[in-house]
Formats: sequence, C-alpha cells, structure tokens
Amino acid sequence: MSVDIECVVVGAGVVGLAVARALALSGREVIVVEAGEGIGVGISSRNSEVIHAGIYYPSGSLKAQLCVEGKQRLYAFCDERGVDYRRLGKLIVATDDDQRAALQRLLEQGLRNGVDDLQWLDAAQAQSLEPELSCVAALWSPSTGIVDSHGLMLALQADAEASGASIVFHTPLLAARCIEQGFELQMGGAQPMTLSCRELINCAGLSAPEVARGIEGLPSQHIPTARLSKGSYFSFSGRAPFRHLVYPAPESAGLGVHMTLDLGGQARFGPDVEWIEHIDYRVDPRRADGFYQAIRRYWPGLPDDSLQPAYSGIRPKITGPTEPAADFIISGPAEHGVPGLVNLFGIESPGLTSCLALADQIVSRTLD
Ligand SMILES: Cc1cc2nc3c(=O)[nH]c(=O)nc-3n(C[C@H](O)[C@H](O)[C@H](O)COP(=O)(O)OP(=O)(O)OC[C@H]3O[C@@H](n4cnc5c(N)ncnc54)[C@H](O)[C@@H]3O)c2cc1C
Repeated sequence: MSVDIECVVVGAGVVGLAVARALALSGREVIVVEAGEGIGVGISSRNSEVIHAGIYYPSGSLKAQLCVEGKQRLYAFCDERGVDYRRLGKLIVATDDDQRAALQRLLEQGLRNGVDDLQWLDAAQAQSLEPELSCVAALWSPSTGIVDSHGLMLALQADAEASGASIVFHTPLLAARCIEQGFELQMGGAQPMTLSCRELINCAGLSAPEVARGIEGLPSQHIPTARLSKGSYFSFSGRAPFRHLVYPAPESAGLGVHMTLDLGGQARFGPDVEWIEHIDYRVDPRRADGFYQAIRRYWPGLPDDSLQPAYSGIRPKITGPTEPAADFIISGPAEHGVPGLVNLFGIESPGLTSCLALADQIVSRTLD
C-alpha cells in the first residue's frame, strides 16, 4: 500500500504531538507515525514533570529561549485546555559556602535568560518556607511548577486531531529516501506500507539519530551520536517533607537529586546520573545509597529505609560525560541541505516545558 501525505511527524511523544498540532493548525495535512502502542511511551512519560523557569541554560541557547517562552505558553495552554498543573515554586539550595557562589551564578544566569522573578533567600528565610530544610542560602523560583504530562499530551493530541491530523500506532519508520519533492518512507509494523510526503519531521527522542541514519541522502556529518544518560527515581513512603520543589545546586549532567511532588502531593526524589550503553529502565535498588547521601545534605531528617525504587528515564544526550552539555538541535534544510526535512536531536530537559515553543520554531523558522 502507498499513501501520499503532505507532512509526516515521526514519534508521538510530547514534542511530536506539539509539532503535529502546530503543523495541523497551520493548515498542513499531517500524519504522526509512532512505533509504540500509544502516545507518550518514551521519554515523555519518564521525567520529573516539572515546568522549568529557564534558569540554568547558557545565554542565547535554544534551551534558554524556548524554556522561558515555553513555560509561559504551557501555563496558558493548561489554563485554556484544563490540563492539571500547580505553580508550586521551587527552592534551589546551597548547603555549603562553595555552593553559595554557584547559586549566585545561577541567579545571574537566570536574569540574563529573562527569568526576572528569582529571589535570594538567606537560611532563615528559606527555613520559614520549609522548616525541615538545611541550607546556608537558597534561590526561590516562584514560576516553577508541575504538570500532568499525560493530560498535556492528550490535549495536544486532541487539538492536532481536531485540526485534521491523524496518529498511527505500531508503525515504526524503518527507512526513508529522498525523492523529487519529498521522501519515500518504509513503514514497519503489522501492515508494512510505503508513505510519501513532502515534509518529514523527526521527533523520535532517543531514536532520533538512528532514524536520521536511515534517511538516504542525509549527509552523515549532520547526525550526532546518541548517548544515553539514565536517571533513576525513588519514591518516599511518608508524608512529603516539603510543600515546594527542592533542588540542590546543579551537577554536571543533570540538575541534581531533587525532590518533586506529583499532583497528588506524593514526594519523589531523582533523577541521578548513570551513563549507559543500552536502554534499560530497571531501577537498581542499590542506587538508594547515593540518594540517601545526596538528599541528607539538604534534608538531614530523611529516615532510614524510607525510599523505594520507582522508575527511571533516559536523557537523549548527544555529548558524552566529559563534554559540555549540548543545546537542543533543530537541524533543518538550512543546516543539512535536504529540503523538507527537520531532525530534532538532544531534546532532553527542558523539552517538556519547551514543547509548544519548539513546535512554533519548526513551523515558522525551519519550514517556511
Ligand atoms: C530523567 C528525565 C527527567 C526530565 N525531567 C524534565 C522536566 O522535569 N521538565 C522538562 O521540561 N523536561 C524534562 N525532561 C525532558 C523531557 O521529558 C523530554 O525533553 C521530552 O519528553 C522529549 O519528548 P520527545 O517527544 O522528544 O521524545 P519521546 O517522548 O521519547 O517521544 C519519541 C517517540 O518516538 C517514537 N519512536 C522512536 N523511534 C521511532 C520510529 N523509528 N518510528 C516511529 N516512532 C518512533 C518513540 O516510541 C516515542 O514515543 C526530562 C527527561 C528525563 C530523561
């Protein structure tokens, strides 16, 4: 069977769904092809569900720009569409004097990124917000929140479908080749088929580099190597110790083992950082030792035996453990020279926060 379509989006995670929605709203005919059995089976359902403020990222980076813009878009979208969220606010804490300097740098970086609501708190002020917290200083970020990521994806899907897009599941893109005015796609699954399209948007998350390697005609120097950085979470069995999100001063590959709350008010801690070779979501209970150590720096009252392995997620890194973190990559015709093709690489955190702003970039900047 062969089908002709204007635009194919690969992957029905939060980014693919936001892109499909934006393309469909712009009047394009869109199909989302998803290898899994439903929406959000990849990174999008294995994260902290935090709406980030945009503090950490280098000035002028896509991460900084799209997080700050995406946060505002996301809060407005959730209000409009009834997606559950809470603007809880977060404390980033310094637990010794060295970290005080790191917090100061974060405050300045946040300001440069346009996050103008950050407040510096001394230990007493932080403890008046969170009496169980141990710290020498903290940054208060009132615009950080949490969101029901699955509810968000359902709302994006509903909008996309209402504008004419369709999503097909159990349909992996196996290979593609450039043809005149577009692409011919080989789809796998129970009913293998060929699709042809004019525009192809690769939002395949962890598999985005592999999908790109399967596109005949795309020069290989435009495809980064996928690196996998796993983050495990542990849930806390008792009453949550904090009412706001609590983050330590950031580490190299992640933001540090932080405490987030789910929408039901249950506390969880994570993610830590573990570089791996193959996808494996099992949480090793032995990693709890590192968690107790990291958490007790800011919450000395953490009781013994109170953490249980919960779940893990894998960051779609495109640089390794000894290299600086990469920015999001939106690689379109201007970068690689193939008309109609956009690859998204390295869409790690804050990709959930940024999804609506990322989608707009793809519609307005890369394709038009
Ligand atoms: C541990 C962790 C914590 C995070 N915390 C946060 C946070 O608090 N806040 C935040 O803003 N961001 C956070 N992020 C980042 C955020 O989760 C991601 O940026 C976002 O979910 C990426 O979405 P995606 O659609 O690009 O990828 P995915 O959700 O992985 O979607 C890709 C989809 O493509 C499909 N696919 C793959 N190959 C093919 C193929 N060949 N054909 C068809 N389909 C295919 C997959 O099945 C999958 O459904 C976190 C990430 C991690 C790992």
